[in-house]
Amino acid sequence: MVVKKPENETQNKIQEELKQEILLKEQKKEYHSLKFWKIENQVKQSLKEQKTDDTLRDITIWALVLWSSDVHYEVFEDYVVVRFRIDWVLVDIFRITLKEYKSILERLKYASGLKLNITDIPQDGKYSMVIEDRDIDVRISTLPVWDAENVVCRILDNTKSVVDFDDLWFFWTTKRILERAISRKNGMVLVTGPTGSGKTTTLYTILAKLNTRDKKIITLEDPIEYTMDWIIQSEVNEKKGFTFHSWLRAILRQDPDIIMVWEIRDKDTLETATQASLTWHLVLSTLHTKSAAETLDRIVNMWLKPYIIASALDTIVAQRLVRKICPHCKREKEKTPEEQAIVEAMMKDIGMSIRPAKNIKLYEWAGCEKCNHSWYSWRLGIYEIISLTHKLREMIRAEANTDDIIAESRNGDLITMKEDWILKAIKGYTTIEEILRVI
Ligand SMILES: [Zn+2]
Repeated sequence: MVVKKPENETQNKIQEELKQEILLKEQKKEYHSLKFWKIENQVKQSLKEQKTDDTLRDITIWALVLWSSDVHYEVFEDYVVVRFRIDWVLVDIFRITLKEYKSILERLKYASGLKLNITDIPQDGKYSMVIEDRDIDVRISTLPVWDAENVVCRILDNTKSVVDFDDLWFFWTTKRILERAISRKNGMVLVTGPTGSGKTTTLYTILAKLNTRDKKIITLEDPIEYTMDWIIQSEVNEKKGFTFHSWLRAILRQDPDIIMVWEIRDKDTLETATQASLTWHLVLSTLHTKSAAETLDRIVNMWLKPYIIASALDTIVAQRLVRKICPHCKREKEKTPEEQAIVEAMMKDIGMSIRPAKNIKLYEWAGCEKCNHSWYSWRLGIYEIISLTHKLREMIRAEANTDDIIAESRNGDLITMKEDWILKAIKGYTTIEEILRVI
């Protein structure tokens, strides 16, 4: 069937309508799994036997089994919902009564060193567990609501192995750019993105690749999420009056080759990190910005003089995580004319020939126990990498406009996040729906 190519406006309208439809479907989607029943039964049983120690342990174990990053306890008028964040999305696992929750809450607060009698102000703490030889730290924070407290637990698996560089889902051009940047003796590599965009994974993976005995690598983190052999990892203690910036200066006096600063939060930290880069250190850090363009805008226009950045900065990686299609239950589907039009429009958008568009497959919901009937399973990185060439540095020094800088990098190696996205959807790693959901 030949589909008439929609005009830009119609095309945007179709994309917007489809996006709304997808978001609606996403909201209605019910994740379910036999495992959820199992967790519920186990938890209710241990609560009945008043073994709250076991309850907490079971919930933590199951959160790890389901690869969740957080456990949420949400209090409503007559019940409490326990939810896990799995692959980016919050999933209701089971409900408990307020009375049952009271026992769990007391155990959580006791285990994390929180004051049991304080219920009207937020508190934060941490409990640790060893589960099958793995050291698990759980950071908990409470928030007073109704006449109870909501709790969110962030699970930090200290023994989680670092992802291999080749498993970060870089296309080879992007990978080559990044490999080149981190093989240098100095320079600054910034990994940027919102919370949950996988910056930590990328940074630790880079560190693992650089970790050889002939170099001294020191990190400044908050908190330390993975521990790594040979790398000197430090955790800033702001409560004792140290700032990221003062701690970083102390690190520089330790004669490092490579420094990883978890996050550049202010001008002072950026200034010190920049100096480190200019005095022959490789500096790795993250910034909370959405794209490479926004990063340039932020640091050049707000924080530092363009000529300093032009010399100190080497590479910006902007990234997001999208869900990957579950390989166990993905099923090819027939494209609707609208979907076909969108695929073509997207390909055209990134300058690809639309000829192969009709061969591009889309996949649909099947659902299996492996992905908890979510259809998606695990996540995959989408990247945009700008490496500063001589020409780009000149442009930054001359205070060129960010759009022009981005346009110039597109003449070179830059693949934008959108291009990376579309290429990965076309290859069947993720879906068009997921792209529209996250964009
Ligand atoms: Zn599946």
